[in-house]
Amino acid sequence: MTPRLQEIIEPEDLQELMLFFYETSGIAVGVLDLEHNWLVSIGGQKICTNFHRVNPNCRQKCLLTETRILEYLDANDYTTHFCQNGLIEVIVPILLDDVPLGYFFLGQFLYQQPDRDYFKRQAITYGFDINDYLLALDQVPIVSPQHIDYLMRFFVRFFGLLTRLGGENKQRCRAELEIIKAKEQLEVRVEERTEELNKALNEVGDLAAQLNEKLHQIEQLAVIDSLTNTYNRRKFDEVITDEHNRTEKNKVPFSFIMLDIDHFKMVNDKFGHSVGDQVLKHLCHLIRSMIRQGDLLIRWGGEEFLLLLPATDIAAASSIAENIRLKVEAEEFETAGNISISLGVAQLQQGDSTDTLLKQVDCALYQAKRDGRNRVVCSS
Ligand code: GH3
Ligand code: MG
Ligand code: MG
Repeated sequence: MTPRLQEIIEPEDLQELMLFFYETSGIAVGVLDLEHNWLVSIGGQKICTNFHRVNPNCRQKCLLTETRILEYLDANDYTTHFCQNGLIEVIVPILLDDVPLGYFFLGQFLYQQPDRDYFKRQAITYGFDINDYLLALDQVPIVSPQHIDYLMRFFVRFFGLLTRLGGENKQRCRAELEIIKAKEQLEVRVEERTEELNKALNEVGDLAAQLNEKLHQIEQLAVIDSLTNTYNRRKFDEVITDEHNRTEKNKVPFSFIMLDIDHFKMVNDKFGHSVGDQVLKHLCHLIRSMIRQGDLLIRWGGEEFLLLLPATDIAAASSIAENIRLKVEAEEFETAGNISISLGVAQLQQGDSTDTLLKQVDCALYQAKRDGRNRVVCSS
């Protein structure tokens, strides 16, 4: 797209330059764009402005000159125009890559001393004051054709250079603008992508959290007995080493209670296996309601349960065991009615292994069974 003349040449700069030229040469100069806007207009001749353009007939000739000028626009070199009012003007089209953007003109002037009689007759014809008219004529500069030729060669090259540099500058500005626009678009795109990425990352984070939660649930299920909802032996294996070490380190007591339902076979035989299951569930619910948060109830197997009691000595453990026994004895189980349990109690001694403690509670429980059941026996 061809730029407009004022887009590539700053009119104020041009005006200033042309003013210097006018001051030195005394020849009027002007620059017009393609829409006939005057970008520069300096030093109009009095003979034109005060006489030729004022009289309607003369003015017709001036206008004729202006329309002729347009015909020269496509020319590559300067054109000399002899106006019908007896003055001379030269015109240079201002081109960018051979495309006209406007034109520059120089004039009015004369090549030689004017024929004063001709101008006197002109004054009489159009009714001008002869003296005033001749005075204005005297102010018209006289420049030799050779001089004009040099000047116009200068201006042809001068405008060629100006439009080329201006055009290049304009193109550079356009390219810079496009780079800025592309950069902005890129930034927006990057921002959008970052947002999408963050969203995806958040979703992945959420999924990971859900997965962790599920894993935790699965891990929990793996250590829970499905019938009684108590822990199973896997939980015992998982915690016992840590519990043992903590007890040794803190020098606090640690006790176990092993308990077993008395004659449970009879419950099954008499009421059926599902009633037996209900008794197991009910019993566990009852025991859980009697122990502390840190205590662990573990289904050791069948109808046999192990209670881990951290920070509990044998006396306290024995008392807990007795309370549980009494509570179970007094409890009315659905369908099965009353049942009893036997319990063995032991406390971890310095240097004992977990296996030793297990054997001790097991022996104590065995002893309770042997002694007639429904009782608590403490390991000695
Ligand atoms: P003791 O007083 O000597 O302990 O007599 P007992 O009948 O309780 O002892 P025994 O070990 O001979 O029988 C335990 C019974 O517990 C055998 C088995 O059928 C029953 N049992 C084990 N696990 C379950 C279970 O999950 N559900 C039911 N309903 N019964 C079970
Ligand atoms: Mg039993
Ligand atoms: Mg048993």
